[in-house]
Amino acid sequence: MNYVSTRDKECKVTSAEAIRDGLSKDGGLFVPEKIPTLTKADFDKLIELSYEERAAFVLSKFLEDYTYDELLGYAKAAYSRFYGDDPCPLVNVADDLYVLELWHGPTCAFKDMALTMLPHLLTGARKKTGEKSKTLILVATSGDTGKAALEGFRDVDGVDIIVFYPSDGVSDMQKLQMKTQIGNNVYVCAINGNFDDAQSAVKTIFNDDAIKADLLSKGYKLSSANSINWGRLAPQIAYYVSSYCDLLAGDRIKFGDKVNFCVPSGNFGNILAGYYASKMGVPVNKFICASNSNKVLTDFFTTGTYDINREFFKTMSPSMDILISSNLERFLFEISGRDDKLIASRMAALKKDGKYTVTDAELKKIREMFDAGFASELDTKDAIHMEDELDGYVMDTHTGVAMAVYQDYIERTMDTTPGIIVSTASAYKFPADVYQALTGKKIADAFEASEKLNEETGLEIPEPLKGLREREVRFNDVIDKKDIANAVLSYVDKK
Ligand SMILES: *Cc1c(COP(=O)(O)O)cnc(C)c1O
Repeated sequence: MNYVSTRDKECKVTSAEAIRDGLSKDGGLFVPEKIPTLTKADFDKLIELSYEERAAFVLSKFLEDYTYDELLGYAKAAYSRFYGDDPCPLVNVADDLYVLELWHGPTCAFKDMALTMLPHLLTGARKKTGEKSKTLILVATSGDTGKAALEGFRDVDGVDIIVFYPSDGVSDMQKLQMKTQIGNNVYVCAINGNFDDAQSAVKTIFNDDAIKADLLSKGYKLSSANSINWGRLAPQIAYYVSSYCDLLAGDRIKFGDKVNFCVPSGNFGNILAGYYASKMGVPVNKFICASNSNKVLTDFFTTGTYDINREFFKTMSPSMDILISSNLERFLFEISGRDDKLIASRMAALKKDGKYTVTDAELKKIREMFDAGFASELDTKDAIHMEDELDGYVMDTHTGVAMAVYQDYIERTMDTTPGIIVSTASAYKFPADVYQALTGKKIADAFEASEKLNEETGLEIPEPLKGLREREVRFNDVIDKKDIANAVLSYVDKK
C-alpha cells in the first residue's frame, strides 16, 4: 500500500519513504491510499493477544514495507520501556465510564506510545530505502513531544535530534525534563514565542530548499517526529483498537456495540488516530474533541470555520495550547472525499488569511461523527476535583479538560453510550495545578507539589519523574524564532 500527499494525490511514496521523509515535498501530509479494515475474526483474534501483538497486527495492516515479526520486535522493544504490566490500562471509574491511560511510558505522556516506536520504524525505513545520509529530526514541541522524542531517539545510530520549545509555554516539569536530556545526538533550545511560532518556524525549514541543500552537503536529510509524520500516527491507531478489545475481553460490551471517545486535543493527532481506527472498523458512536480556552477546534466543529485570528491563551494544559492543528489537514482530506486540490487551496488560505471554511455538506458529515467542547481553567479544576464521584481517580490537567467536556456532553445529549476518556499525561507532570484543584492550596515548587500530591492521594510518583531534581541541566539556550535556521546549521557544523 502506498501513501499519497494530502495536497497532491499524484505524489505517491511507500510506507517506509513516508516515515523516512515525514512530510511530502509539496508541504502536504502523507496518508494511506486506502484504509485497511478489521473483520470480526480479526477482533476475535486480537482479544486474545498482548498489547504488543495487537499493535504489531494493526501496524502491519498499514506498513506493508515491514513484516509482522519486525513490527512485533519494535513493539516489544518500545513498550518494554513502559512501567507497569500494561502499556495503556483502561480504568473503570464510573458506570460505563473508562479512562484510557496512555502515560505509562518513559516521559509520562501519551506521546511515548508513538515516540518509543518511531525510532525503530525510522531506523527500519532508513535500511529499507538504502538511505546513506544521516537523519536530522527537527521537533517543535508544546511540552511533551519534545521530551518523548528526545528519549526515543537519544543515541540512535544515524540520527540526530533538535528540539525547540516555547520559552514560557511549557510546565516547569516539562522544561526540566528537556533541559536535562542526556545523549550524544541531541540538542534542546528554547525560543521566544508560543508553540505555533515554533511549529511554523520548523515547517519553514522543511520547505526551504536552500537550507535543505546546505544540510545535504553536510550529510544530513531532515525528518519530523511531530505528528505530521505518519510513523507517529500509526502507532496511535493501535490503542483505540486495543481499548475496544479490552472492553470486549472484560465482557463490558458485545462485539458491534458502539463507544464514545473523548480526546483532549491540540494538534489533532491523537483523535485523528481514533478516527482512522473507526474507519478500520472499531464501532464508534461519537468522538468528542475537547479543547481548553484555545478553542479553535470547538469553534470549527460548531461553525465550519477554522480561524486562528484570535487571542492565544496560556493554560494549565500547555500541551493543548495550540491554534494551528496540523493533523486537521488529514481529516479534511478524508471528509472532502480526498480532494487534494481543495485541501491545497484551504491550506494556502490558512497560511495567507489564517482561516478557511468547509462546505455545509462537509460540516454535516463531520457532525455525524464528531462533537466538540471546551473547558475553561475553572471547569478543568472542577473536573479534577470530581475525584469522589470517580472512585477517587486522580487525573492530570489535560485529562481534566476532557473529563469536563465529556460531563458537559452527557448533560447536553443524555447519551448513554459507554465512554472512554483518553488520558494523556500523568498528574505528576502538572503537580501544582492538580494539587490546587484537589485541595485549593497553592504550592509554587513542582517537586514540593509532587510530594504533597502523593501524600494527599496515595498515587505513586512515576519512576521517570522521581530523580529529575538531581539531574544536571545541559541546555540553557534561548533564541528568537527568526534564528531557528541558524541554530540548526550551527548544530550540524559542530558535529
Ligand atoms: C500532545 C498532547 C495533547 C494533544 O494531543 P494532539 O495529538 O496534539 O491533539 C494532549 N495532552 C497531552 C498531555 C499532550 O502531551
